Amino acid sequence: MTQGQAPAVEGLFSEDGGTARLLGSRCGTCGTGYFPKSGLCHNPACDRSDMSDAAFGPAGTLWSYSVQNYPPPPPARYDEPYEPYALGVVDLDDGLRVVGRMDVAGPESLVAGARIEIVIGPIAHDEDGTELVSWKFRPAEEGRDA
Ligand SMILES: [Zn+2]
Repeated sequence: MTQGQAPAVEGLFSEDGGTARLLGSRCGTCGTGYFPKSGLCHNPACDRSDMSDAAFGPAGTLWSYSVQNYPPPPPARYDEPYEPYALGVVDLDDGLRVVGRMDVAGPESLVAGARIEIVIGPIAHDEDGTELVSWKFRPAEEGRDA
């Protein structure tokens, strides 16, 4: 993030040296991952919650996608006038399936099975002009059109 930017929601992601990750939890007993963080393991087959912080990403595979054609309900943020955007469902390599905005001009280029990387980018602006950033997914370098 740069000056004039702020997370849309605190504590959900990190960016270090250009590598973006989602901040969640993992249960040490059964290995189940959670995003966002969870204080308890919700796996019904797990005997004992043993939660610790975990970071997920930065890469995965696009499982499916859709287009958000109408404004999403709060707490989702967007700028007026509302512009439809693609939403991706990504299977992160470390085991979580996560929904996020796709950082693409249009959904025409998206293909299920494509390699994806997490990026941190703007999703809306605050009343004072602060750029609100969040995680997004974009086709990974190796799979992107030249
Ligand atoms: Zn567990």
